[in-house]
Amino acid sequence: MFSKILIANRSEIACRIIRTARKMGVATVAVYSDADARSMHVAMADEAVHIGASPVGESYLVAERIIDAALQTGAQAIHPGYGFLSENPDFVDMVEAAGLVFIGPSAASIRAMGLKDAAKRLMEKAGVPVVPGYHGEGQEIVILATKANEIGYPVLIKARAGGGGKGMRKVDDPATFPEALAAAKREAKAAFGDDRVLVEKYVETPRHIEVQVFGDSHGNVVHLFERDCSAQRRHQKVIEEAPAPGMSPEMRAAMTDAAVKAAEAISYCGAGTIEFIVDATEGLRPDRFWFMEMNTRLQVEHPVTEMITGVDLVEWQLRVAAGERLPKLQDEISINGHAFEARLYAEDATRDFLPAIGTLHHLRFPPENVSLRVETGVREGDSVSPFYDPMIAKLVVHGDSRASALAALTAALEETEIAGSVVNTQFLAALASDEDFAAGNVETGLIARKQSQLTRQQEPTAAMVATAVLTATDRIVEPDAADPWLAISGYAHFHAPKKMVMLSRGEDMIVARLAVAANGNTNVSFGDERQIVAPARLNSARWPGHVTVFSGAASHTFAVADPFAAVEAAIAGGGGLRAPMPGLVKLVRVSPGEKVVKGQALLVLEAMKMEHTIIAPHDGIIEEIAEAGAQVTDGTVLARFVEQEAAS
Ligand code: ADP
Repeated sequence: MFSKILIANRSEIACRIIRTARKMGVATVAVYSDADARSMHVAMADEAVHIGASPVGESYLVAERIIDAALQTGAQAIHPGYGFLSENPDFVDMVEAAGLVFIGPSAASIRAMGLKDAAKRLMEKAGVPVVPGYHGEGQEIVILATKANEIGYPVLIKARAGGGGKGMRKVDDPATFPEALAAAKREAKAAFGDDRVLVEKYVETPRHIEVQVFGDSHGNVVHLFERDCSAQRRHQKVIEEAPAPGMSPEMRAAMTDAAVKAAEAISYCGAGTIEFIVDATEGLRPDRFWFMEMNTRLQVEHPVTEMITGVDLVEWQLRVAAGERLPKLQDEISINGHAFEARLYAEDATRDFLPAIGTLHHLRFPPENVSLRVETGVREGDSVSPFYDPMIAKLVVHGDSRASALAALTAALEETEIAGSVVNTQFLAALASDEDFAAGNVETGLIARKQSQLTRQQEPTAAMVATAVLTATDRIVEPDAADPWLAISGYAHFHAPKKMVMLSRGEDMIVARLAVAANGNTNVSFGDERQIVAPARLNSARWPGHVTVFSGAASHTFAVADPFAAVEAAIAGGGGLRAPMPGLVKLVRVSPGEKVVKGQALLVLEAMKMEHTIIAPHDGIIEEIAEAGAQVTDGTVLARFVEQEAAS
């Protein structure tokens, strides 16, 4: 076994790998960028090496610096985690050329599966069913559009170098094909530097079921059953589970056989995942699943497999990379119970999942135990920066049955409290309790179909507002001892208002008055409400300029108003459309002087590697518009326009 390894990654996955390495007595070296200097993975590792500036292109993607760090610290092997350099065959070559071990498959295996088109051709040859479609060399629009017609709409355009759902567009009819193709190519070029695409039949009511495989350098390949990742939003996984609901023994046998065959076809060594798409219109049928792609690395959702099999996949990765045999053979691996993983993201579900940033001023997770894992890379006070993926944590739960695991997931979400950034906790809880999801009727379109229901934001109750008011004052409202009424015991009398607090929530202003009664309860009045709040009835957190109140998986954040700041913001806000987050202006569709109508696309903002279309909130004439290529920060004015009435 290695005595020291370097982890070429950050955040939760780096922490996850460090934990297993420590358990095995292997020393760890972390690498970090400027933004991560004080991050959890750096604190956890035995040693840490600074590798550059915050943008990934200047740190986590710079192969030379990472290899230098390994050589410098005497690490013998490099674990890439997932993302970054994990599926970069040139990096594997460089690692090996430096005399180090890459904890993952060979460069040849990664190359064979790296491009979706070539992988599909290879799998077709190996006798693995692949999604019908065009995965040839031709890239001219006429060829692709003709192929799309032959395949039959709807089709899915996919970047051949794709990953994370980027560069992917579903097209419903030929008229929109050219525009979708251009968008997919643009996104693919930006994300992968390769704009070549393939076109596939869009499978209706699809389920995403993937099989975990593992190979060693002695020619053994096993599978560790399936994971269902059908709960997706814009092709990105939201809640994953294992095993797949409704799985039959025949279907499982067919899928795991195909997966092992796929891995054997490339003499696979290490942890890998074979992703299949399943047509579930008539339940799970052995003739209705097709290979989509192979991920030649550890997956984000690997913990659900660990929960049901009891296998530590990272430990297996280290053993196999060190030349050992697989610790277990196929007949020694079985399924125990059911597991779920929910991905907590800094994003605003109510604003179409806009990625958020911020400082995690308040962070509480449920305590971990054998059936609950909190996979995180942040601690209270850490920031979600615009440089990296905004995932905060993964909650992983295990239960004897799917129902008990799901109940455990909901409970874990309800015990999670995060303030300082917008988080998708409530959305995850809504999904977990959705009747279709709970019944196991999962498919990739479920979230989009029910988005408004799943993202519905309840208005805070009067009790929540009262708790916010109380928290905003830091609970230092003193009862008036001189008040003669206080002497009358048991009489809940309240004095004249002692304190006034102003809170705001979106457009709403709340002016509240507080007074404390003899029994310690506080009387909070605002609007038509008069609430008596016992101290600490709901959990809440005070953080700079704000208060967040938690109730179940829901939370409500109030700004503790500074009346002067509010006036300034209102002036600056007049007629301007501001960037909701830092990003890059990708494409500008209108020019100054142009007349626009409400809902019209004005420009495309790229942030967090996703494209967001900024639309006109009302009719008007464009006065000023950001330039394509401009880098904007949170709050930068993107467009100014005069309203229609004023202009005409
Ligand atoms: P990426 O590598 O970008 O994650 P994948 O090929 O793994 O792309 O596909 C991501 C998701 O897109 C799948 O999980 C599935 O929900 C959806 N998808 C992919 N191919 C198809 C298809 N042919 N029909 C319907 N949905 C698909």
